[in-house]
Amino acid sequence: LSDRLTTVFSSLRSKGKLSDADIDATAREIRIALLEADVALPVVRDFITQIKERARGAEVSQALNPAQQVVKIVNDELINILGGETRRVRYAKSPPTVIMLAGLQGSGKTTLAGKLSRWFKSEGHAPLLVAADLQRPNAVQQLQVLGERAATPVYAPEPGNGVGDPIKVARDSIEHARHAQHDVVIIDTAGRLGIDTEMMQQAADIRDAVGPDEILFVVDAMIGQDAVTTAQAFVDGVGFDGVVLTKLDGDARGGAALSVRHITGRPIMFASTGEKLEDFDVFHPDRMAGRILDMGDILTLIEQAEKAFDADQAEKMSTKFASGEDFSLEDFLEQMQMIRKLGPIKNLLGMMPGMGQMRGQLDEIDDRDLDRVGGIINSMTPDERRNPKMINGSRRARIARGSGVSVTEVNNLVTRFFDAQKMMRQMAGGMGIPGMPGTRR
Ligand code: GDP
Ligand code: MG
Repeated sequence: LSDRLTTVFSSLRSKGKLSDADIDATAREIRIALLEADVALPVVRDFITQIKERARGAEVSQALNPAQQVVKIVNDELINILGGETRRVRYAKSPPTVIMLAGLQGSGKTTLAGKLSRWFKSEGHAPLLVAADLQRPNAVQQLQVLGERAATPVYAPEPGNGVGDPIKVARDSIEHARHAQHDVVIIDTAGRLGIDTEMMQQAADIRDAVGPDEILFVVDAMIGQDAVTTAQAFVDGVGFDGVVLTKLDGDARGGAALSVRHITGRPIMFASTGEKLEDFDVFHPDRMAGRILDMGDILTLIEQAEKAFDADQAEKMSTKFASGEDFSLEDFLEQMQMIRKLGPIKNLLGMMPGMGQMRGQLDEIDDRDLDRVGGIINSMTPDERRNPKMINGSRRARIARGSGVSVTEVNNLVTRFFDAQKMMRQMAGGMGIPGMPGTRR
């Protein structure tokens, strides 16, 4: 008999799929989280469809409940999408490597140029900054200040010559870089507040004049829903190879990252997190995914649960539970201890999608509770522990005296135990997934 039931259990675990209802309920919460992170609606739709598909194929996890499992899938998939095809800068075979920056005005291009030059230096290169934004009066000077701070030379048109030609400046800068032994050229360009055909044409002309090895699209993380239209306009107008997200030090949740990545398929390469030169790093997909989901605590909880879950112990228990009668008070205690090992999770459960109702059950287990249950069980004879049915009124009174609790508490424990035992029998009949039955009252 026990062999057959062990098979039932292992097939339940290996063949079990997440239910559509579980997936739908959690997907709804995720959808709201993504919209709150300012991910564009069509992107949210695509992404959720994709997630649901993956969740439907997923096996039931032993360590996580279905809602947690869907959150984990979403997080994994976000990291995957944000980090898929992450690559380093492509350097030209014959220097200089030309990096061209494109993006709306105020997106942070000029600041980024300074940061990039500092970064390239730290990677052992000799960069040259090029001021090809001749639109804004102070743009050249702004770059010169940044270049000074980053100790990087700036190539700029001579002052006082009227409005210069940014295409000529860009073209000449490459020649200059060759002579002056600069192996990386970073070209800052002009932007407009909105998408504008003249600006786009100028960027395209600079592109054609210098043949960049990398065109980086610079986008403000605070731009939110507009990221999609802006990114698409730059794909159509100039094209780009990689994305840089700026102003991640602001309070935006960064949905723009997912939108831009999803719409353009281009990798996010760098992240900018402040006005200072050192507020800059290569892009970290896991950090970004956590930020977009804004479920840091839940993600930590999931990690803990996966770690705390002891597969061997569970295997041993479920085999035992399979025969119902064998489930003893000692097992009951062990089971509670296993749940307790998940850590201080009850505060987090309220935030879990669909987990509100579980919180009440878990509230019932704290360390004091566990100690008391342990004390009560210790005051029982070995016979009583193995065969709780024999615990009649006078035995309960004796156990209560011995463990220093009221008879009511002993009664409660015995009731909880029988509930758990009943649940174990139902599970043995294949009616459920091994969960947290010890917490049922
Ligand atoms: P550009 O018009 O694209 O060249 O943008 P700028 O580089 O001139 O940046 C516009 C403004 O945003 C400036 O005041 C910068 O100091 C600021 N800025 C740029 N990057 C960041 C960033 O990552 N975080 C913050 N907080 N401000 C930034
Ligand atoms: Mg600028």
